[in-house]
Amino acid sequence: MIITGSTQLLGVIGDPIAHSLSPVMHNAALAELGVDVVYVAFPVAAEGLEAAIAGFAATGVQGFSVTIPHKQAIVPLLAELTPEARAVGAVNTVWRTERGWMGTNTDVAGFVAPLKQRQGWAGKTALVLGNGGAARAVVAGCGQLGFAVVQVVGRSIQKLAEFKQSWVESPLALTLTTHSWVDLPTLLPTADLVVNTTPVGMHTTADQTPLTAEQLDRVPEAAVVYDLIYTPRPTQLLTLAAQRGLSTVDGLEMLVQQGAVALEIWLQRPAPVPTMRQALEKWLDHKMA
Ligand code: NAP
Repeated sequence: MIITGSTQLLGVIGDPIAHSLSPVMHNAALAELGVDVVYVAFPVAAEGLEAAIAGFAATGVQGFSVTIPHKQAIVPLLAELTPEARAVGAVNTVWRTERGWMGTNTDVAGFVAPLKQRQGWAGKTALVLGNGGAARAVVAGCGQLGFAVVQVVGRSIQKLAEFKQSWVESPLALTLTTHSWVDLPTLLPTADLVVNTTPVGMHTTADQTPLTAEQLDRVPEAAVVYDLIYTPRPTQLLTLAAQRGLSTVDGLEMLVQQGAVALEIWLQRPAPVPTMRQALEKWLDHKMA
């Protein structure tokens, strides 16, 4: 595309940000739509967050994505939040309104999208490994899908207690329990869905898995194993789960779908989802080659 004086600006803030896949996905979509908009990565350190969004407000930035470490820190700096963002307590998408910046969390819709294609989650039990930012979107997503119970496993008793406490005021209609990793033998046989939200198995630890083959043997045969990681594809966890005959979902579709919802908010038109998916797959294949 030709960048002119009227080209509008979208972007992503984070630290580090150079590895972000969002520019690849969003610029492919913007090119497909033929709109005069570009999407760039802005490295913003924690101490520069307030200045950065004030700068965006004063210039022509129309909206932006938010990633680590700003997803929670940005909440008090925004004029308004959607119910999704309030429920999760974190924001990954921001746009301009007459009242100032508005924030939402599209990770919830992204997480839910591949599970919606499968029916019958009402009343079921999810086992969530990890209790960080992504686990918050997973819990909210399980609420939307009608799960009855979500069991969250973590390694810090204090963080687990804070995690559980943070949902007390939210309208979550499910039973949320927290556990340490040593409780897995009793939790695994009860799981209809197992979700890995830890970074264990991600590129630099690609030979690792949060659950061993022996642990996966305890999961019911009809269960689905969902790894939020999208590099490598598949992760060691999903390879072992497939060998056990379990259904698997990787993190790429969540990435695509959360981006599609964000783009639709910014542009107020449907996002070209197949183009976004293909751009990411092509980029990841090229990186892995
Ligand atoms: P985060 O806030 O840092 O949370 C990570 C969680 O994993 C924390 O609970 C952490 O425990 C736990 N953890 C870290 N290393 C561990 C280990 N060796 N053993 C056991 N637990 C460990 O990160 P996040 O934002 O939630 O992201 C987590 C993962 O989800 C990343 O791989 C990210 O790429 C992926 N993700 C994917 C998408 C997508 O669109 N597909 C979206 C968001 C995130 P402590 O609290 O004890 O440190």
